Amino acid sequence: MYTIKVDAHTHTIFSWHAYGTVAENVAMAAKKGLTGLGIADHFGFPYQPLEDGIPEWTSIGSIRILPKEIDGVRIFCSVEMDIVDFEGHLCCYDRIHKATGKPLLDVYLGSRDYVVASLHTFDGYRDGTVAQNTAMYAGALRNPYVKILAHPCRPGVEFDMDEIVKVAKAEGKMLEINNLTHTDTPAAIDRCRKLAEKCAEEGTMIVVDSDGHCPWHIGRFDMALETLESIHFPEELIANRSLETFKAAIGMTE
Ligand SMILES: [Zn+2]
Ligand SMILES: [Zn+2]
Repeated sequence: MYTIKVDAHTHTIFSWHAYGTVAENVAMAAKKGLTGLGIADHFGFPYQPLEDGIPEWTSIGSIRILPKEIDGVRIFCSVEMDIVDFEGHLCCYDRIHKATGKPLLDVYLGSRDYVVASLHTFDGYRDGTVAQNTAMYAGALRNPYVKILAHPCRPGVEFDMDEIVKVAKAEGKMLEINNLTHTDTPAAIDRCRKLAEKCAEEGTMIVVDSDGHCPWHIGRFDMALETLESIHFPEELIANRSLETFKAAIGMTE
C-alpha cells in the first residue's frame, strides 16, 4: 500500500470550472493527512476569459500572497499550462508581457514553484500522428519551466510511450498517473498501467495526482494507486510519496 503526501495538481474556483476555494481545498488536504498541496489552476484558451487573446491571469498570478503553509499543509504555487501545438509549446509562448517587454511566459511562469503541462485541445490535435504526438509531449517536457506532464494517458492521443518515458528521465521530469483519467474509459486505465510499467523499467519518476476540481476530490488517489499496486510499482519512483521527495523532484531546497 502506497502513501501519497502531496497532491501536486489540483484546481480552485479560479479555473472557472472547478468548485473549491483555496481554504476548502486546504482543509480537505489537511483532513486527509496530506502535507503538501499544489494549486495548479488552468492557463489555457478553453477556460479563463480572454483579454487581448491572453487568458485571465490576475487571479492565479497573485497566489504568492498565500502563506507557505496552512494548517500543516505546504502550499505549492503551480499552474496547469495548455500545450498548444505539436511542438509542445505552451499557451501564449509567443506573446510579450506589455509592462516589462519580456516574454510573457518568463514573467508568468518564473514565479511558480513548478509548472504542470497538459494537452486539452488545439486546432487539429485529434489528427496528430503518433510521431507528432510524441514530439509534442517531448517538446513540453524539454521546456525548462515544466516539471510535470499531466494526464498523458487520456484517451484519443496516441504517443510513443517508450520515447516519452526516456525523455522524461533524461530531463529529470515527472510523468503523471492521474486519478481522474481512471474515470475516462477502461482503455485509459490500461494506458496508465502501461505507462507506469515503462516508467518502472526505465527508472522514470512519476507523480500521483487527484487533478481534483472540487474539495471532495482533493487527495483522492484510490484508482491510480490500485493501478500501481497491480504492477507492484517501485515506491521510490513516486515523487510525491513524501513532502521531502516531492521538493527534491521539483528542485526546491528550502
Ligand atoms: Zn480542468
Ligand atoms: Zn488539471
